[in-house]
Amino acid sequence: MTESEVLGSRARTKIVATIGPACQDRAILEKIVLAGVDICRLNMAHGSRSVHEQFVATIREVEQAVGRPLGILVDLAGPKIRLGQLTEDPLPCEVDTELTFVRGEQVEPGQLTCNYTRLIDELKVDDRVLMADGTIEMVVLERSDEHARCRVLQGGLLRSRQGINLPGVELSAPTLSDVDRDNAIWAASVGADFVSLSFVRKPDDMVELRQLLDQYDSNALTIAKIEKPKALENLTEIVKVSDGIMVARGDLGVEIDVATMPVAQKQIIDACSIWSKPVIVATQMLDSMQRSSRPTRAEATDVANAILDGTDACMLSGETAIGDYPVESVAMMNRIMKSTEQMCMSGREQLQGNQDEQVNPVASAVVRGAGRIADEIHARMVVVVTKSGATALTKAKQRDFIPTVAVSDCQRTLRQMCLYWGIHPLPGAPEDFDQQLVSFISRWGQEQGQLQPGDRVVLVGGTGVKDEVHNLVLIHQVHE
Ligand code: ATP
Ligand code: MG
Repeated sequence: MTESEVLGSRARTKIVATIGPACQDRAILEKIVLAGVDICRLNMAHGSRSVHEQFVATIREVEQAVGRPLGILVDLAGPKIRLGQLTEDPLPCEVDTELTFVRGEQVEPGQLTCNYTRLIDELKVDDRVLMADGTIEMVVLERSDEHARCRVLQGGLLRSRQGINLPGVELSAPTLSDVDRDNAIWAASVGADFVSLSFVRKPDDMVELRQLLDQYDSNALTIAKIEKPKALENLTEIVKVSDGIMVARGDLGVEIDVATMPVAQKQIIDACSIWSKPVIVATQMLDSMQRSSRPTRAEATDVANAILDGTDACMLSGETAIGDYPVESVAMMNRIMKSTEQMCMSGREQLQGNQDEQVNPVASAVVRGAGRIADEIHARMVVVVTKSGATALTKAKQRDFIPTVAVSDCQRTLRQMCLYWGIHPLPGAPEDFDQQLVSFISRWGQEQGQLQPGDRVVLVGGTGVKDEVHNLVLIHQVHE
């Protein structure tokens, strides 16, 4: 497949795919990328350092092979509490049976341990303890210095090292643990383009991550995973200090009432639109495709609705990491996205209000104006010239349908723009906003079958491209 086919066949909404055993093979990774993946996610909660290092090397090889930038997102596990080893694994838990959390690692039948040593200290009578993604629910009956005795309210099958959620319980564990810090430093060393943090509760969690990355000379964009009620309470402040947001529905749907989650998703996406931050909707988007080559109706609808809510990207988790149909999952997601974009969004002026209070008002006005000019003169393409990617993000948030190519002399920016809706990052363009660039675009567009003689192209230069000017708009007509 050539890049022009890729450009024509890819959705505007971006796809983040979790890399795992099912797609780690170079050939399969290349296939999922060609099917539409923009960003590869490495989950630090699973797999070893050497496995992740291998993933990074393979992703960069595939990036070379397909000739378009690919983003790498390193996902830090944060303070996720996990069960220790069970005496019986799996352990059937029936309603009304009692299970007791004990200290240490030795367990007898009826006892549980976990990786969070202060759990027993911080639990109170009547607290609810959820396990296995919320399928098993317990209530604390009694607590002493040495144990916390619980009764099962909702039964199920428990396995060693499954996650534990304590809705409403305030844990004292720091959001960025030593393990997370070590992984963030590793992410900096391998040149990750995005670093996401799980179980963020307050803006300072993200400030701390930013400082750590700065200390190690990483310009990775920071992504806050919203999955705690506390994070919803502090949403605006968290959005303001992060570079992007993930609606992490796996744990969010356990930590808050699942019935309120659909509207919470819309609120989070709206906040990202107001503050002009890219946003990813994650978890169970095409879940049944782990074991089936077709999604359910509800899943197809979920992907479409996330786009209509205004998301920039959708994520695949188990579907690509451990599923039987990784390539089909990506292709299906891309197809649903394209149909949704074509059927529901064309002609819409700005999906969201785009108040983008953090964006420079001059840049915002110029980009908006460029979009209007492009529309009025029936331009075939908009080209955004950007140093940091900020101008491209402003363009993305306007959600118009004219094919938009972004050029930058910075490889990191090219990779980070993989997250921005409708932006096609193009490497190798000349650095200056001048005739050379115009000729390059004209030639490239014709080679790709995107432009013909007589076609008009609108070029927008962002702040930072030329020192003495703020923003530039240039209209070019392709020569015979
Ligand atoms: P999170 O809460 O961060 O989403 P998770 O445990 O749900 O964590 P996902 O990243 O959603 O994990 O991935 C889905 C599944 O894919 C995991 O439960 C795990 O079994 C598998 N997986 C993901 N990454 C790897 C890996 N690097 N090696 C092995 N298995 C993996
Ligand atoms: Mg998950």
